[in-house]
Amino acid sequence: MPRDIAELKSLAERQPELATAAELQISLIETTRRVQGRLTTPWIESSTETLAARLAAGQSLLEFDQILFEWNDVRLLIRQVADILRRYDAVDADGVVALHNVGRAADLPERMRAWFNGTPSPDVEMLDEVLVWAARPYLQRTAEVLQQRVNFEGWRRRTCPACAAEPDFAVITATGERLLVCGRCLVRWPFAATDCPFCGNSDRSSITSMATADGIYRVAICNPCGRYIKALDGRKSPRPLLPYADPIVTLPLDAAVMRRQGK
Ligand SMILES: [Zn+2]
Ligand SMILES: [Zn+2]
Repeated sequence: MPRDIAELKSLAERQPELATAAELQISLIETTRRVQGRLTTPWIESSTETLAARLAAGQSLLEFDQILFEWNDVRLLIRQVADILRRYDAVDADGVVALHNVGRAADLPERMRAWFNGTPSPDVEMLDEVLVWAARPYLQRTAEVLQQRVNFEGWRRRTCPACAAEPDFAVITATGERLLVCGRCLVRWPFAATDCPFCGNSDRSSITSMATADGIYRVAICNPCGRYIKALDGRKSPRPLLPYADPIVTLPLDAAVMRRQGK
């Protein structure tokens, strides 16, 4: 994360039009880092064989009850993330009140469980984004522990082997393999180099690919489902993926996709 912050600071200087987005991201990273310093390491009771068998059966590993949420910290994070979003005008005055209410409510653990299990949240603006930030320190820590026990080489599915979320980014390795990066817990797993990770479309002629001028970042747009995924090309990049910085560094690619789709 310190490298992500350094990269975002440098981005804000290089590309002033991205400075606000970079500063917002830095604020969010710094808020979650404070909680990360207080995390306890979860103990996963399942044996390595059980975990490997789950993966072989196509089941993601992490169950909600295994995540050691410290609810007071989660509530604090929700409030702080909402305040940051408000400061950068990403939510309006009513929106921030609604988010604060979610963070205070007695049913927060049940709401978080529903979100974790993929149930769409009721209509509170930016709630899913806020829950990602509030849950990620705990999800990430638990996923790290799991990753020390099993590897995800054979997974090759469209959703995260640890927490079942969709990928948010990708990395192309030196050998041209594509790894997807989970949008929630940041775990990486291998996936077919050209298939769409959202709908599974494998018809290369219906997937449009674009790259930045330096070739470091690519985006693959799936024409049937309309979704797209960005990637860092490790064959061209002088540094590894920075999962908190690269989504912001590549915002111009998102804008290019939007223009292409006429949005
Ligand atoms: Zn995940
Ligand atoms: Zn698709």
